[in-house]
Amino acid sequence: MKSPRPVLQYPNDQLKKIAEPITDFGTQILRDTVKEMIATMRRLRGIGLAATQIGLHKQLAVIELKDGPLVLINPQISRCSKKLEEDEEGCLSVPTVFGMVPRYTELVLDAFDIDGKPYTAEAHGLFARVIQHEYDHLHGKLFLDRSTRLTTGLDRARALGIALTG
Ligand code: ZN
Repeated sequence: MKSPRPVLQYPNDQLKKIAEPITDFGTQILRDTVKEMIATMRRLRGIGLAATQIGLHKQLAVIELKDGPLVLINPQISRCSKKLEEDEEGCLSVPTVFGMVPRYTELVLDAFDIDGKPYTAEAHGLFARVIQHEYDHLHGKLFLDRSTRLTTGLDRARALGIALTG
C-alpha cells in the first residue's frame, strides 16, 4: 500500500498552475503516483483528487464514487449539456468551506488510462460534477472561482459522512 501524500491547501499558489499532459504511460512512477493519490483520496474521504493537489503538475486525476477508482489522464470534456445545475461542492484543498457551484449536468469524458489506452465515458449528475471539478484543478481553477455562494456544508457533509469531492 502506498502512503498518502500531503494535500496542498488554499491559497497555495501551486493550485493555480496549469498541468502538463502526460506522455509516458505505464511506467512504474506513474503507477506508484496513482496508488499514492488513491490512498490519499481514500484517507481524506474524498471522491476525487487531482495531481495538482499534491504538487504534481501533470494531467492526472483519480475519482472514486460507488465503483472502483477511475484514473483520468489528459482528460478532455466534450459534448457538455446546455443545462447547468447548482449544487454544493467542497474540496480537499479548501477545508471547511463549501459553495454552490453551477456545473453541466451531463458531459462526455475523453481520457487515457494508466497504460495509455484512450477511453470515453458518459457522465451525469455527481460523476459529471466531479469530472468538472478535477478538470478545473488541472487548469489551475478551484470551485471558489466558480461558486455563486459560499456555504458551511456541514449538514450535508455530515449527512453523507464524506468530505465532498476532491
Ligand atoms: Zn478539489
